[in-house]
This record gives sequence, C-alpha cells and structure tokens, in this order.
Amino acid sequence: MAKIPTGQIVAEVTRKEYITDHFIRVYLYSPEVHQFQNTVVGDNNKIAVPPAGLNEIHFPILDENHQWVYPAKDVAPAIRTYTHRGIDLEKNELIIDFVDHGDGGPASSWVRNAEAGSKLGVMMRLDGKELYPAAEWYLLVGDATAIPVLSAILETLPETAKGVCIIEVHGKEDEQILATQADIEFKWLHNAQPHIGSELAAAVKSVEIPEGSRFGYVACEFSSVKEIRTYLRKEKNWTAQELYAYSYWKAGVAENESQEIKTI
Ligand SMILES: Cc1cc2nc3c(=O)[nH]c(=O)nc-3n(C[C@H](O)[C@H](O)[C@H](O)COP(=O)(O)OP(=O)(O)OC[C@H]3O[C@@H](n4cnc5c(N)ncnc54)[C@H](O)[C@@H]3O)c2cc1C
Repeated sequence: MAKIPTGQIVAEVTRKEYITDHFIRVYLYSPEVHQFQNTVVGDNNKIAVPPAGLNEIHFPILDENHQWVYPAKDVAPAIRTYTHRGIDLEKNELIIDFVDHGDGGPASSWVRNAEAGSKLGVMMRLDGKELYPAAEWYLLVGDATAIPVLSAILETLPETAKGVCIIEVHGKEDEQILATQADIEFKWLHNAQPHIGSELAAAVKSVEIPEGSRFGYVACEFSSVKEIRTYLRKEKNWTAQELYAYSYWKAGVAENESQEIKTI
C-alpha cells in the first residue's frame, strides 16, 4: 500500500479562546504551517502533547532501518487524535478545538493549562481527502468532540442539502451556532456526564428518515456509535457507503489504550 504523505510540526500557542464553557479553541503558530496548505479542514490529525511541566516536543523518530525509536518515558509525548479546524497561511496558524473534559487526560489537561508559548506537536496528512459524499439528505450526529468535524461538514454543504444534526453537549451553555447554507434541523441534547451514558442513540431512533439519497456521519463515544451503527445498518438497511460511524473516545479508557476498538 502506498504511504500517505504526512507532515509534522512543533507549533506554539498564540492565543486560546473559550468558545463555550467546555470548548476551547487554540491558535497554533509555526513557520512550517504552509506544509499543510493542501489539507482539508475537518480531516483528523495527531497531536503530540508534552508531559506536564515540559514545554518541548520529542517526536518518535524513524531510523535508517525503518524502525520507530521512541523518546525516553519522561519526555515522551502523549499522542491523541484531534480535528484540523482551520489554517491561516498569512499568520502561519493552525486551529484546533478541544473539549475540556477535565484533568483526567493529557490533552484535555494540556489545553486547560495552555498559554501563549505552550508547545504542541501536530502531525497530519498533507493531501486533501473527501470528508463526505454528495447526498440529498444528511444525518449528522455527535457529541462535543465531533463539533469540529460536523462544523466543517456543515460549512461546506450546498444550499440544496437537507438534513438533521443532533449534537450532545454538557449543558445549554455549550450549545453553539454552527454556520451552514443547507436546510438543517438542529437538535441539541444536554449531558453533563457523557462517560456514564448518552441519549444520542435514542434521539437518532426518533428521526424520520426521508426517501432519497442520504449520508450519515456519526462521531461520539464508543457505545453510542455502536448502537447507532447497528440501528442504521441492520434495522434501517443503510449501506456501508451511506454511513461513516467512528468512535471518538471510549468511556473509562485513554485513547492510547483503545486503538483496537476504534473501527466498529
Ligand atoms: C478522528 C478523531 C477526531 C477527534 N477530534 C477531536 C477534536 O477535534 N476535539 C476534541 O476535543 N476531541 C476530539 N477527538 C476525541 C479525543 O481524541 C478524545 O476525547 C481523547 O481521548 C482526548 O484525549 P485526553 O488525553 O484528553 O484523554 P485520554 O487520556 O484519552 O482519556 C482519559 C479519560 O478521559 C475520558 N475521556 C476522553 N474524552 C472524553 C470526553 N470528550 N468526555 C468525557 N470523557 C472523556 C476517557 O474515557 C478516559 O477515561 C477526536 C477523536 C478522533 C478519533
């Protein structure tokens, strides 16, 4: 299989904005940002989060025998998956949006403490990819971690598209206005304890699905993704091409411990 070209940079926070109480936007500067000029906003990236107290990024290195050489434990970054939310080639900045889910994970903890000058490693494929196929009707479903990718989809849907977008956030204060030209009905659910359970699958089951071409993008906690996927594929006979359903995190498990259960 051909290797996908990827880029890797160390970037520095220039500013941090609370979009809502539990949703933080970070602007990251690097003179190397231009290497990501052909990327698609909404694609996923990998971030390298330095250990608490260290403001240096020590990436793993591929040696001459094509073996990964990992840095010593005390400097090794935690690698996590996030979403490419924007690029500004004039300012040499990337944008990444973080859900603040507390101090329990290195990425969430990093963003809570991040300030101007804080360093983050960012790795991403360099070429563009199609985020979603053309369809008449869209079902967009996610929790707060999916707001970046769902926003990117909503921003690029044509005026003729219709659909339903269901998003679960911590509370009323975490709802956002998401820009779109399409005819989308938004449903916001509130859940202060998404690691305990979620109403997302029940909300999906209450949606009336019209006839015609359709596409579903589902990104949330593992158990909800599994239930929604089973419902749409097995009970509603959606094909694999009509649905992208991906676990963005798993309750009680750090990302690096749950790699094997990502695709379900
Ligand atoms: C393709 C893809 C794109 C993603 N894009 C984004 C993005 O743009 N923004 C974003 O915020 N997240 C995004 N995520 C989700 C993010 O990778 C996970 O939430 C990740 O676990 C966060 O890492 P951490 O170091 O904070 O926590 P970890 O060390 O991975 O986990 C520590 C603990 O926190 C729990 N936990 C993790 N995430 C949450 C959460 N959201 N709410 C409650 N508990 C949680 C875990 O179950 C675990 O018990 C994406 C995931 C994928 C697969």
